[in-house]
Amino acid sequence: MSTTTTTTTTTTTNAAPLLRVHELRKHYVSPKRWLRPARPPIQAVDDVSFSVARGETLALVGESGCGKTTTAKSVLRLVEPSAGSVQLDGEELVGLSPSQMRQRRRDLQIIFQDPYASLNPRLTAGEIVAEPLRNFGGADAAAREERVRWLFSRVGLRPEAAKKYPHEFSGGQRQRLGIARALALQPKLIVCDEPVSALDVSVQAQVVNLLMDLQAEFGIAYLFVAHDLAVVRHISHRVAVMYLGHIVEIADRDTLFSAPRHPYTEILLSAVPVPNPRTPAKRMLLQGDPPSPANPPSGCRFHTRCPMAQAVCKEQQPVLTPRKADGHLVACHFR
Ligand code: SF4
Repeated sequence: MSTTTTTTTTTTTNAAPLLRVHELRKHYVSPKRWLRPARPPIQAVDDVSFSVARGETLALVGESGCGKTTTAKSVLRLVEPSAGSVQLDGEELVGLSPSQMRQRRRDLQIIFQDPYASLNPRLTAGEIVAEPLRNFGGADAAAREERVRWLFSRVGLRPEAAKKYPHEFSGGQRQRLGIARALALQPKLIVCDEPVSALDVSVQAQVVNLLMDLQAEFGIAYLFVAHDLAVVRHISHRVAVMYLGHIVEIADRDTLFSAPRHPYTEILLSAVPVPNPRTPAKRMLLQGDPPSPANPPSGCRFHTRCPMAQAVCKEQQPVLTPRKADGHLVACHFR
């Protein structure tokens, strides 16, 4: 267990951020069972703070199980946070009733990893994209049809595809359908939960470029959860690196990829393939398995796998603090 309390620092910009997440926590507590000792809570997300500006893409990266998807779903309250604050446009979302939260969903949408699982197989593509318009009212049938046609064209689907069912589309087309549905209500922020990792490599680039075009056109912000660092490098403006429920580094994309500071980030980035075969790759290997989030290591959570760990790392939890005026934040005693 940690011996000190984390006081994470949120990136500050002159303009108020669109999304401000402060000391977000999600601990899963096992239900008590008769004759079974209580289990420690699983600390999936612990004291996570970050912000996303309007029209910005912030990528959340890290190993499987590091808490990035739980963080993203907590922002949407698809997972109920245990503690902390999530503000969208200055309005607190944590604590809103389901009906109040439903109203805020106009501004806050999600694109899922598996487009097939996220689309109702009994509805046609046109009905799927029209569903949010119908649920939130404000448009008659003719206006909805017109809007659906426009959304289809905007995401690169032919108008006649509106009559098809999800199983009749390819994986890339289904993801375009998911994007059209997310766009329907003109949201301010879209959470993209590994939106291209289930797609063929050739289709990934098309979908990523589509997301970037839509951002340029409509000024949408993305919270982009991904493990593919090549995709992250292409689409993101800033990157937050997570390890075992904590953010360990946040920096703008170019800084993070050219001069990472946290040892975990360095190791993650060393696994990214180098395009030029003449450039010697300095691959660093992460030792051991990630510790259990039910019993995270004391002090720095990365100390059991860190090649630079020293005695203090076992005792004191490093605080995510700015290293430069450019908003580069690192949680390490020595970097
Ligand atoms: Fe490694 Fe210590 Fe830095 Fe943690 S605080 S990343 S263990 S050097």
